[in-house]
Amino acid sequence: MDSERGLWMTPPPDASPVPPRFARAGEVLDLLRRSPASSTSDLAAALGVARSTVAERLDILGRHGLVTSGTETSQGRGRPAARWAFNPSAGVTLTGQVGVSGVRVAVTDLAGEVLGSEQLEQDLAAGPDALCDLLQKGFAQALANAGRAGTRVFGIGIGLPGEVEFYGSPGDGGASWSASSFGERLSEVFGCPVFVDRDVNLMALGEREAYWPESRMFLCLKVGTVIACGLVVEGRIVRGAAGRTGEIGHVKVRDSDLPCTCGSTGCLNTVAGGAALAESLGRQGFEAHSARDLAALARSGVVEASQALRRAGRQTGEVVAAMVNLLNPDVITAWGYLVDAGDQFLAGMHEAIYRAALPSAARPLVLEPARLGERAGVRGAALAVIEHTLSPRHVDRLVSGSVPA
Ligand SMILES: [Zn+2]
Repeated sequence: MDSERGLWMTPPPDASPVPPRFARAGEVLDLLRRSPASSTSDLAAALGVARSTVAERLDILGRHGLVTSGTETSQGRGRPAARWAFNPSAGVTLTGQVGVSGVRVAVTDLAGEVLGSEQLEQDLAAGPDALCDLLQKGFAQALANAGRAGTRVFGIGIGLPGEVEFYGSPGDGGASWSASSFGERLSEVFGCPVFVDRDVNLMALGEREAYWPESRMFLCLKVGTVIACGLVVEGRIVRGAAGRTGEIGHVKVRDSDLPCTCGSTGCLNTVAGGAALAESLGRQGFEAHSARDLAALARSGVVEASQALRRAGRQTGEVVAAMVNLLNPDVITAWGYLVDAGDQFLAGMHEAIYRAALPSAARPLVLEPARLGERAGVRGAALAVIEHTLSPRHVDRLVSGSVPA
């Protein structure tokens, strides 16, 4: 496990030294990703090395298609200097956001821009092997539709929902869904590194990067069948000691002693999760079997559904208020069926947070529906892949031919 970069990745990071003539190629690329259109002299000055060293590395990176050059007309005297830039079209990432009833797959360039995506229907209960088969077909289709069939795949990023127990390693229970066996199989099939993380972490990363890059303490809630959240602090996903940061659906709430899937009773999910709300409306005679049905009822004007969402928003807000006091986030966004259903859920959350949290912590807080919507997960997964595969140490190995890609 490489907890710095992905919850789980395969193959594990390679720490062996690279031949000296390839060393620092990754640093040159890293600089170009941050400050495009640099000259060889700019790069040499920034790295504190000779121009000839930078020129050699640029040549190596150019042969891998990772940089492009153009000349800029000189305004003064002297020769026009070549300007170098990172080429995000040098390859692609493949990403998948796995849900309980379907999978969204996407192809992105190396800047994380989504080039094409597909929605595939499959029940999560079909298991990891069926999911691997589906991803294999879906990725091939998405590559073809984006006109990028045959392009080098730098890595794969997959977000799995919290319903999947994938923290175990084979042999310690839940082995069929362990990230290690799942990731290894995908890595074998596609011949590239695979990153597996919780979907809420990747959604939070994607949403923050796209719309809230200045946020220092960012929370993204997923409010669907169950409730969970991802936490990004200073741009980094926080996972905690056992990868369980953000499992707010299992915080105990007042007035519930209902059994929860975690084995305990009285969790937030048992009263405010979409599955629980749908069940409750079903008992009142409405046609509601899922969080999606519940959202449809609320949108069609069923008062009981709207009231249930408002109440669920308040109950969730009470739990989040404790997080506001603990973490003092600047932005909280929420995504999922309970938010798609209209304003009631977020209005309820808002009420509870402002009533229960410390005013000085709650006042500057922004609480909004997530803007990237269903694309947040695939974009966040691409960013996680890119962060690793274009890191200086990985690029040095890539151009020296010691890692496949
Ligand atoms: Zn629970």
